[in-house]
Amino acid sequence: MGIRLPLTGDAGPVLRDTFGRAHNNLRVSVTDRCNLRCTYCMPEDVTFRDRSELLTFEEITRFVRVAAGLGVDKVRLTGGEPLLRRGVPELVRMVVAVPGIRDVGLTTNGLLLARQARDLYAAGLRRLNVSLDTLDPGRFRELTRRDGVEQVVEGLLAAKQAGFDPIKVNAVAVRGFAEHDAVPLARFCRQHGFEMRFIEYMPIGAEPWERAKMFPAHELLELLEREVAPLVPAADYDPSAPAMDFDYADGGRVGVIASVSRPFCKRCNRLRLTAEGKLRNCLFALDEADVKPLLRTAAPDDAKLAEVIRATVWAKWAGHQINSAKFVKPGRTMHAIGG
Ligand code: SAM
Repeated sequence: MGIRLPLTGDAGPVLRDTFGRAHNNLRVSVTDRCNLRCTYCMPEDVTFRDRSELLTFEEITRFVRVAAGLGVDKVRLTGGEPLLRRGVPELVRMVVAVPGIRDVGLTTNGLLLARQARDLYAAGLRRLNVSLDTLDPGRFRELTRRDGVEQVVEGLLAAKQAGFDPIKVNAVAVRGFAEHDAVPLARFCRQHGFEMRFIEYMPIGAEPWERAKMFPAHELLELLEREVAPLVPAADYDPSAPAMDFDYADGGRVGVIASVSRPFCKRCNRLRLTAEGKLRNCLFALDEADVKPLLRTAAPDDAKLAEVIRATVWAKWAGHQINSAKFVKPGRTMHAIGG
């Protein structure tokens, strides 16, 4: 007989897996297209999906509505580069209006942010993460295979002007770059009131991953303490949360996401919907459920969709195994999953 867990908690429905982890956090990729080609994320030559294959805004919103009925209350729009898809503010408006959704965020490379920041804010978006690995134009080109650091900075300043607060700046810490870039980035963020977050480099890109290229969180913190300012664990510091936050002794905050050196799988609360409607229970999942046929049909069946969402979460493994010989890299790179 299977284990029976309650499907509702005191505060409402709970989407649990067999390890008892509650899932309330949904990442939705709105496109696999990107206007950068970050070396750690995707190949230079890539065939993007035909636009007709992508879920429509109505289909995404329907999925979110059903997931919200199961306990999801947090949604992050991502990609590819989400701001490449026309009308994202409209999608924000639709997702914000879903009953039960209390938190909507967006992760962007910032290239198109300057011209969209006000519309996104007006649509109800409040949480914004902007990816930026370096302030140096040459190294930006080396990492992203494109130009545009000035545009990203312009986007960040426009977002601040539009009212976003906090704005998080995410950098992937790659050895050979982070030694030069982490300190200027941290200083830049302190100067402008952005919250800096460093993410350990994970084996999910097109390039063969080498552990030696990962710049671990503890080295970063040592570097920041030495070169920027003393750090103390944030008041709400939680060592098992994805981001470990620290406050500078003289104000401001910095976080590290140690996905490789200190995996947070035991606390994982995430599920992911790809741009073409595949549901994944882990960034590194090897299986996925195709929910598009349930969304793109003349006879929508929300009960069936709910069943697939529950089963996908239920099937989640204990963790990603990056640090074991059992690790198998998924067939999709980050841009095609949704970061
Ligand atoms: N285009 C948007 C952006 O740049 O933020 C959203 C998608 S991007 C795939 C989301 C995040 O994934 C970015 O912060 C990116 O740096 C991160 N990322 C991509 N490949 C990674 C890797 N191999 N290891 C760690 N983070 C990675």
